[in-house]
Amino acid sequence: MIDLHCHSCFSDGTDEPEALAIKGDELGISALALTDHDTLEGLPRFLAMQPQVTTRLVPGIELSCRFLGKELHILGLLVDPQNREFRARIDEVRTRRNQRNVKLIERLQSLGISISLEAVRQWAPSGLVSRTHFARQLAALGTVGNPPEAFRKLIGENGSAFVPFQELSPTEAAQWIHEAGGVALVAHPGRFAAGRFIWNEAMSELQRAGIDGFEAYYSEYGPAEQRYFLELAASLGMLPSGGSDYHGANKPGLELGRGRGSLIIPESVLENLEAARPRNHNGTFHQRIS
Ligand code: AMP
Ligand code: MN
Ligand code: MN
Ligand code: MN
Repeated sequence: MIDLHCHSCFSDGTDEPEALAIKGDELGISALALTDHDTLEGLPRFLAMQPQVTTRLVPGIELSCRFLGKELHILGLLVDPQNREFRARIDEVRTRRNQRNVKLIERLQSLGISISLEAVRQWAPSGLVSRTHFARQLAALGTVGNPPEAFRKLIGENGSAFVPFQELSPTEAAQWIHEAGGVALVAHPGRFAAGRFIWNEAMSELQRAGIDGFEAYYSEYGPAEQRYFLELAASLGMLPSGGSDYHGANKPGLELGRGRGSLIIPESVLENLEAARPRNHNGTFHQRIS
């Protein structure tokens, strides 16, 4: 069993990177990727745990992008966390995120909610401030009953205070990830568009944009959805990936490796991703790190 998607306290998870490595080992997960949103900062501490665990620790990131006018997350797996160009690019994304956060505070205040960035930051111990932290503060203030309600009513794509910041295109994201030696994958495509959205055309467009594959295994998929995405991957010649999207206490009910209990991701998934890594990049990260 492997898990190629989880978050630490360096984005909007609650576990320290070391704790994730240890938990993965204790759960018998054979490979675990840390994929924090728009940051590489947790990776040095995560990868430094490799000598202490048998779980293979895989570097990753989840980039916030825009596609068809909506938010789409692109995972970069097996990226080189030391790649300078990549790090500089991620820093720019962070600046845009910080600007978005200021606007989001202003928008919420204009709706009569007394919220401050300092208060939101209390939920974000390691620096990066995400809407997950806004949701927790809005729930703590009693503005909403719980964090999911904050997304539905206020800060989600259909909420009254929504401020977009994802300007990165999937084409750019794929290029950045490839130049950092990784493979580029659409995260949870099943969440992008509800109901009976037919992915064939949109996914071929992403494939032409350089995307290598997508999550066919995911905590929130039922068996039919998993089958649909596995068949789509096979028919397009794209790679299936998968993960739990574990966020610790920020997403209760999700477990590392097992998702909501029935997630099983075969090891061959990672072997195939590894075989698809760009061969001509200048990094020094070609070798397995374990
Ligand atoms: P940000 O990257 O700051 O825009 O925040 C996005 C994060 O908010 C995602 O990574 C999710 O963890 C979380 N999120 C997005 N939509 C929802 C939702 N409807 N319910 C709960 N959490 C959500
Ligand atoms: Mn998140
Ligand atoms: Mn995501
Ligand atoms: Mn995620």
